[in-house]
Amino acid sequence: MLTDKIAVVTGASRGIGREVAKTLAAQGATVIVNYNGSAAKAEEVVKEIEEAGGKAEAIQCNVSEFEKAGELMAAVTEKYGRIDILVNNAGITRDSLLMKMSEEDFDAVINTNLKGAFNCMQHVARQMIKQKSGRIINMASVVGVMGNAGQVNYAASKAGVIGMTKSVAKEMASRGVTANAIAPGFIVTEMTDVLPDKIKEAMTEHIPMKRFGSTKDVANLAAFLASDAAAYITGQVICVDGGMAM
Ligand code: NAP
Repeated sequence: MLTDKIAVVTGASRGIGREVAKTLAAQGATVIVNYNGSAAKAEEVVKEIEEAGGKAEAIQCNVSEFEKAGELMAAVTEKYGRIDILVNNAGITRDSLLMKMSEEDFDAVINTNLKGAFNCMQHVARQMIKQKSGRIINMASVVGVMGNAGQVNYAASKAGVIGMTKSVAKEMASRGVTANAIAPGFIVTEMTDVLPDKIKEAMTEHIPMKRFGSTKDVANLAAFLASDAAAYITGQVICVDGGMAM
């Protein structure tokens, strides 16, 4: 259980983040539902959590902006007194082959997926060290482990998240703070809904379980990593991918 824990989940208005927020709240955490543009959807998540008897609050913040990420963490710490769990989930894709990839698309993906996670971790580190406890959970991807044609920017961002997670784990292990990465395979969300059926079929062929995963499959692992049961696990990259990356 996560009773009385304060959790910040970035990009929690939709997809995986939404499910993570609901799962942490169902286990007793008070959840900050961060979003960038989807205010109505974030409020919907808060409403669902409250209707189920949980506690949540939606806060807008573009995590790719260093100062804004700082303001988000400061507002949460001021109101709730602590931050126990940070789930860096906000992420975007801007796919194309290397030769066609624009500098803008490369930068946008790195700025949200990699720098966004850095920004949030940088601004909770001091608070978690002060608390002598904290859980950082970063959403990577099997693509960061295996690479993927058409996703040079995305793969770089997720491989970067993995390197960053291990480094933070080493820096903060002796201070009671763990940092782990989740590497989902193909999960049914708006991010994968946009893929053409032909591509989805080809991808499914590479998954030993022959199906995409659900947001719940990922959220269950996030809740475990956030719990006391995972106290001795840090610096790990755990794939939730139907066997794809083994
Ligand atoms: P999604 O359905 O597209 O949702 C993305 C979420 O991120 C939204 O809530 C969005 O909020 C938020 N977001 C985007 N840019 C942001 C920013 N700058 N600041 C704050 N929030 C921002 O994506 P998803 O499929 O759930 O993916 C969630 C995470 O899992 C991502 O990191 C993704 O790379 C990773 N992942 C997904 C899959 C998959 O198959 N779906 C596989 C591996 C890894 P707004 O709507 O408010 O902009």
